[in-house]
Amino acid sequence: MSARVLVVDDILVNVRLLEAKLAAEYYEVVTAQSGQEALDKVQAERPDIVLLDIMMPGMDGFEVCRRLRKSPETAHIPIIMVMALSEQEDRVRGLEAGADDFLTKPIQDEALFSRLRSLLRLKMVLDELKLREETSRELGVETGATNLEDAELMDGLKVSVVTDDASDAAEVCATLPNELVTTPIAAEGEADLVARIAASTPDIVILDLYLADHDALRIAAQLRSNEATRFCAVLLLADQGDVARLPKALELGANDYLIKPADPSELLARVKIQARYHRYRDRLRGAYTESVSQAHTDALTGLFNRRYILRHIEQLRAHRRPDASPIALIMVDIDHFKAVNDTFGHDSGDLVLKEVAHRLGGNLRAGDVVARLGGEEFIVVLPSAEQSVALSVAERLRRAVADKLIALNGNNDPIPVTISLGVTLDNGKADSVDTLIKQADDALYRAKREGRNRVVLATVVSAAA
Ligand code: GH3
Ligand code: MG
Ligand code: MG
Repeated sequence: MSARVLVVDDILVNVRLLEAKLAAEYYEVVTAQSGQEALDKVQAERPDIVLLDIMMPGMDGFEVCRRLRKSPETAHIPIIMVMALSEQEDRVRGLEAGADDFLTKPIQDEALFSRLRSLLRLKMVLDELKLREETSRELGVETGATNLEDAELMDGLKVSVVTDDASDAAEVCATLPNELVTTPIAAEGEADLVARIAASTPDIVILDLYLADHDALRIAAQLRSNEATRFCAVLLLADQGDVARLPKALELGANDYLIKPADPSELLARVKIQARYHRYRDRLRGAYTESVSQAHTDALTGLFNRRYILRHIEQLRAHRRPDASPIALIMVDIDHFKAVNDTFGHDSGDLVLKEVAHRLGGNLRAGDVVARLGGEEFIVVLPSAEQSVALSVAERLRRAVADKLIALNGNNDPIPVTISLGVTLDNGKADSVDTLIKQADDALYRAKREGRNRVVLATVVSAAA
């Protein structure tokens, strides 16, 4: 996950050190050496995340943080405060100023990259949500505010705390805010721990990395692959000595970690990040208000409609940074659909449309959107995808439809259905959305001519190299 990171520190060596670490992991780095310069750079460079030193002459990190939070344009940019060990008491002040997270100097790589990863994931979802809400407003529909207050964020969110014995787990639960619904779970014993965690239907799982009877890393991976817990956030509790295992843990599906003994304000900060991510992603996944859904959705399939998606693509184009990955459009058309209607009747045709819509929607990531353009034509929009990613998504969608028969009305046996797909990418050079749709359409028709049930990439002849 690449992104633009603003590093703020009044001491040049510190800036250079972080810059080198980040550049080595392919992050793009922008730097500032004072509070004011930081504010200017945020305006000019639109970083995805800010690493902010607290102690600076003139405007300090707290003030920078407060000012960024105050402006609607910058309020959602994640901020990680960088503090010396001696400034630990300042964490609470940092939280009050609006910081999302903390790092302690000297900065450890695992800590740095895990924090970046989890906050950037949140930022991506948030960017997408803001964009959609803007589209909605333009279409004359009011939506709820993007920025939820803390209490709203946490209210009713379920957190399960898993440690070897129940009293330790209960102790951790006791430090969490009352708005959360907490469940302490004792890991002791051989019984299926994943099933017990799943039974508590958690939004966030706080999991001790050291369990006597279970391999916590395996549990984290299983939570990720279990249908019921697939979308929950996993926060690990690790000992200082376990730091070496953390990169593996994060790779296996943990979202973040804390070093024991977990400082309550730090635990709260981490839980809050996951809570925000969870809430916003939920909204993205379709928790839209009725009024929004009626103006924007197709009645038969429940997908977004043509009017919405065209506006959405315009918005994505307007907000795209020149150096970002392209926007991908995938045009989808059901093969020989007329024959379904002719053979099995219009109602069966409708069932096929609904099932294809369902399979398309079920095979996309949170930021990706699918809409019904009309008839048996759909379009999938990936806000940020390189060619290889777009093609593999298209191929996944093709298989999602072709690999399983679709059930029909009455006594009819399930039937095979296939789709053809045309893929095009927009790196900012296309002159309009219409041009892009035309490109994707042309590719789609080549897919039809070449035998259907396949993916074809558009050939784009660009005017200037
Ligand atoms: P191709 O593989 O070339 O795409 O062939 P096709 O038969 O899928 O394409 P064609 O465009 O000839 O037929 C599309 C059919 O879709 C014709 C139309 O009656 C049907 N159709 C359009 N909207 C709906 C709908 O809402 N419900 C149903 N049941 N059928 C629809
Ligand atoms: Mg068709
Ligand atoms: Mg058609």
